Amino acid sequence: MGIYTDKHKLDEGPCIICNWPITEKHRIRPGLKYGGKYTKENVVNLCKGHHKLVHKLIRQAEKQSNFNEYEFSDFIKAAKQLYDESRTI
Ligand SMILES: [Zn+2]
Ligand SMILES: [Zn+2]
Repeated sequence: MGIYTDKHKLDEGPCIICNWPITEKHRIRPGLKYGGKYTKENVVNLCKGHHKLVHKLIRQAEKQSNFNEYEFSDFIKAAKQLYDESRTI
């Protein structure tokens, strides 16, 4: 199991939510506040819009008292759900 500190060694791919081909690397456990690293296990590809959305959902949850009950992967699932719902309207 390798620890990747170089972003460019990580897999390229479409947004895992909407399949848009131009993506940014999102750390499932964010780096700034929570010390998440750029490892294969902790990084997913998200388009700019969905990347913003996931961080917005994290910020919203941080204000709630039950924040520590969340898994970081929950925010990606929630963003995906919002996307799926928006497409069925
Ligand atoms: Zn997307
Ligand atoms: Zn991110």
